[in-house]
Amino acid sequence: MVGSTQRPPQDIKLRQPVQMPKSGRSDRAIATRVGVLALQGAFVEHVGMLRQVGAEAVLVRLPRDLEGLDALILPGGESTTIGKLMDEWGLRGAICHAAQGGMPIYGTCAGMILMARDVIGHSQPILSLMDISVRRNAFGRQVDSFETDLQISVLSGQPFHAVFIRAPLIERVGEKVEVLASLPNGTITAAREGNLLVTSFHPELTNDPRLHKYFLSMAGR
Ligand code: GLN
Repeated sequence: MVGSTQRPPQDIKLRQPVQMPKSGRSDRAIATRVGVLALQGAFVEHVGMLRQVGAEAVLVRLPRDLEGLDALILPGGESTTIGKLMDEWGLRGAICHAAQGGMPIYGTCAGMILMARDVIGHSQPILSLMDISVRRNAFGRQVDSFETDLQISVLSGQPFHAVFIRAPLIERVGEKVEVLASLPNGTITAAREGNLLVTSFHPELTNDPRLHKYFLSMAGR
């Protein structure tokens, strides 16, 4: 989905259907079970990254798919489409319920838009989970997509190579929201509020698993 030099992990074949995890696997007791909302957008890439960091990835399309999950990822894509499909499949209430129960939820790009308290200038179905206000397509059109190295406060080591695709920006953060990364001009690009994590960029499109590992640590496994 991005015309960059970034490649998904070697073992992931993007154009092939994702295999659902087999039940009763022997490593079930230790693997963190992470759902990936699979209605539209870049969900396959998250599945690949989760497997790379040793988690069990489960595609979520129906409320019952949330059962038994330790955490959930909302991928990038088109937030209006994902929001409408969430409503159609009865997922909006179910995800809000899981978040209120403390389930760690990570939204990337469109996923971040869905998690925001409000979307400036747009009326669209969202989850309104996190105390942030976002602006969609804040950096311009598809051709204005860009990549840059970011210092992320909770990650050690080298800066994180971040891929922005028609990205939203976080224009307001509430008191309880911790800012994790910003662009040199001050634009906030990653934030956390308790069990909720958002990035306006796509870590699943790089080979760097540190943000997924950090998210797994939020699931306490
Ligand atoms: N532009 C999309 C939206 O507003 C988000 C893009 C993305 O997820 N890469 O929903």
